[in-house]
Amino acid sequence: MRLINAPKFIVDNNAGKLAKWLRVMGYDTLFFNGRSDSGMIATALAEGRIILTRDTQIMKRRVITNGQLKAILITSDQPELQMHQVIATLNLDCQFRPFAMCLECNQPLVVRSREQVKDVVPPYVFQTQSQYMECPACHRIFWRGTHWQAMTRKLNKLTQYQRKEGEF
Ligand SMILES: [Zn+2]
Repeated sequence: MRLINAPKFIVDNNAGKLAKWLRVMGYDTLFFNGRSDSGMIATALAEGRIILTRDTQIMKRRVITNGQLKAILITSDQPELQMHQVIATLNLDCQFRPFAMCLECNQPLVVRSREQVKDVVPPYVFQTQSQYMECPACHRIFWRGTHWQAMTRKLNKLTQYQRKEGEF
């Protein structure tokens, strides 16, 4: 499932933690760990991705200053504030598509039945969880376990912070 109007991202390695958070929300997000800014810009242009970076030099590139390519200069060095900045700037929906992307590979997850995962998940998980997803690339099995719930709660907190701030 691809949503045509949803923003897609490429995260520079100086703001790498953003990649996982955006994937938790369900946004298609590449992590750029190459050395050449030009490579990142070329990928962003080719795939229509918004660049998230802490590098002020990239912001001076002509493709960005003339509006051909969208980039956001991340101002904080704290991951939570970085996430808050991106959510507020683009008005992102924290509940966009939870549980849709592999947090490691950025691949859309595929639904698996309980029977299909029976032999690969721990018995207590099998007993308590009914919904499973598998990454077609790394074959990790995901379920809405405690780790996932903790990340969702953190995201919700960020949105509430955003709303409160808007009142002033
Ligand atoms: Zn994966």
